[in-house]
Amino acid sequence: MFHAYAASSADSLFEPFEYDPGELGPDEVDVQVEYCGICHSDLSMKQNDWGITSFPFVGGHEVAGRVAAIGERVAGLEVGQRVGVGWTSQSCLRCNECLSGYQNRCPDAQGTIVGRHGGFADRVRAQAEWCLPIPDGVASVDCGPLFCGGLTVFNPLAENAVPPTGRVGVVGIGGLGHMALQFARAWGCEVTAFSTSPEKEDEARQMGAHRFLNSRDASALQSAAGRFDMVLVTVNAALDWDAYVNTLRPGGTLHLVGAAEKIEATVFPMIMGQKSISASPTGSIVRATEMLEFCARHEIKPMVEQFPMSRLNDAMDHLASGQPRYRIVLTAGE
Ligand SMILES: [Zn+2]
Ligand SMILES: [Zn+2]
Repeated sequence: MFHAYAASSADSLFEPFEYDPGELGPDEVDVQVEYCGICHSDLSMKQNDWGITSFPFVGGHEVAGRVAAIGERVAGLEVGQRVGVGWTSQSCLRCNECLSGYQNRCPDAQGTIVGRHGGFADRVRAQAEWCLPIPDGVASVDCGPLFCGGLTVFNPLAENAVPPTGRVGVVGIGGLGHMALQFARAWGCEVTAFSTSPEKEDEARQMGAHRFLNSRDASALQSAAGRFDMVLVTVNAALDWDAYVNTLRPGGTLHLVGAAEKIEATVFPMIMGQKSISASPTGSIVRATEMLEFCARHEIKPMVEQFPMSRLNDAMDHLASGQPRYRIVLTAGE
């Protein structure tokens, strides 16, 4: 039996919950959870905001732990090895997306907490390919948040081929943004933090920002006109989209990883400047592996607040308050 914490409805607290995962499939791995980050998607899923939640709901898709059991056809992983599991736990590995290396875009991909039970537990099960080895130099306690939030903000730098000579803006200095600043700085870019919280300026600079702009200040946005190769939006609020497109240099991209409800932007300046608006979810298996190596090389890690997993409900309240600096990690077995 796996011992987890489950919510029986959108309004329920998480309570201890046992379930039988069934026989381990030949291509599957059981991971002993050591740490599990909490991502905003865990809260959205628990509240069934997207209408795809099944109850009882076991959240947790930022797992860092060790291989506990491997299926008979699994190669390349050993019991005891450190691995992590993120948003995706399984994909078909045969469709064009999977074969092109974009397994995260597989139409049959299964989310770790969508129709499956996630990492708010002592164990979690995933397809072997989605159990990503954690390199030396990355501590397990630090790396849970890399597997969802970290990958989500690393992926756009690679997918948009942002050059190291480029300039990157990061909108929102929170759970995602504080990792994006570190990635963009280590990538070699000039980095600008956009935030509505001027008190975050010192921390933003410590995490890699060369510049800090108060995004409530229209004249500050105007002063950055034509500046950025990429502006990465990590917030889910409605923005003055035209003002942000205006901060892009010709050929630049406004890239969204925060889910604002809709975008309204004026097309003509985008045509004239060959600017684009794009968006992406997490990232592929290879991207995740590259990200982990990059973190080890540049000593990048999220800032985390730790809670024992037994205090999951307190941790979820803390997340909902918007106060975490900047990512919450649960310690299993406590
Ligand atoms: Zn997530
Ligand atoms: Zn596929």
